Amino acid sequence: MSSKRDYYDVLGASKDASAAELKKAYRKLAIKYHPDKNPDDQEAEEKFKELGEAYEALSDEDKRAAYDRYGHAAFENGGAGGGGFGGGGGFHDASDIFSQVFGGAFGGGGGGGGFEDLFGGGRRRRNPSGRQPGSDLRYDLEITLEEAASGIQKELEIEKLEACSTCNSSGSKSGSGRKSCSTCGGQGVVTRQHGIFVQQSECPACHGAGQTISDPCPDCSGEGRKNETTRIKINIPAGVNDGTRLRSSGNGDAGLRGGQPGDLYVFLHVARHDIFKREENDLFCEVPLPFVTAALGGELEVPTLDGKSSIKIPAGTQGGTTFRLRNRGIKDLRSGAKGDLHVEAQVEVPTKLNSEQKEKLKEFSDSIGAKNNPMQESFVEKAKRFFGS
Ligand SMILES: [Zn+2]
Ligand SMILES: [Zn+2]
Repeated sequence: MSSKRDYYDVLGASKDASAAELKKAYRKLAIKYHPDKNPDDQEAEEKFKELGEAYEALSDEDKRAAYDRYGHAAFENGGAGGGGFGGGGGFHDASDIFSQVFGGAFGGGGGGGGFEDLFGGGRRRRNPSGRQPGSDLRYDLEITLEEAASGIQKELEIEKLEACSTCNSSGSKSGSGRKSCSTCGGQGVVTRQHGIFVQQSECPACHGAGQTISDPCPDCSGEGRKNETTRIKINIPAGVNDGTRLRSSGNGDAGLRGGQPGDLYVFLHVARHDIFKREENDLFCEVPLPFVTAALGGELEVPTLDGKSSIKIPAGTQGGTTFRLRNRGIKDLRSGAKGDLHVEAQVEVPTKLNSEQKEKLKEFSDSIGAKNNPMQESFVEKAKRFFGS
């Protein structure tokens, strides 16, 4: 009734294999089909489960005897006669079997390495020094547009975990006061028994280090690092923009007991400028242009990031005309090429005229007639076409 493969076939072992031979056979195949080694491989996962089930049954003397006698029927619900395991429920998770079998090698030294070594990265490693890397930190810094354009050195005041100088980051008062962790016996892991299965987890006392500090440094409570307010200088290169992220290597939190420090990431925010708007490396601004200068032409003083400059206004300049000042924008962060400055002239009409000035303007208006206003002329033409007259 069962389509299950024979457990001995699954393990590739003979019917009279010893317990040690079964274990060896299981270990070999379990490593091959472990899900960590075969991510997203359905077939390997099935094989791994099947292996766990077969080994669970055959590694137990009573179960093996029952299997030898009744086959798979021995484990089916309701069981086969008195010899079965009726009602005993299904099998345990295949990974439980795996950690049970490999558990002995875990951190035991000389045992050919635990499964952590077999599967490499991603898993927690036992770390006898207790060192752990420090965290990366983020610092948000507002700078002015001028600072972004020219580059600047800034000193940041940051509260972060700093290496403890009292114990030289070791966490130990004497510098050598380590002892084997009494909670886990130096294994870094604690095991708990669930029936015949063993579950392992990181030792809560030493966090997997296998050692604890016997004479913790009073300044840092054995951490080898402590909270301090630190000043860090960072160089902001010319050309940075809003949102630019700078990395200050090694200036994050100090690691635990001398572990690698993290990095500090400085996120730049460029404050709004009263005069200039920035687009990429170009700058834009609007400058009032007296209407007389617009009509007669002349010089117009304009602001740039490097100070005042002046541009030539041709006679008859209309409002909205934009003048481009080459290379007066922002230096590109990478290429160093400079953007341009675009100055838009906003023709300004005087608001307070005395009677004499008004009189002169009227005279001027009479003398010029309606003829000498190019924009108005073209507008009148367009309006005529629009109204169809
Ligand atoms: Zn210390
Ligand atoms: Zn421990």
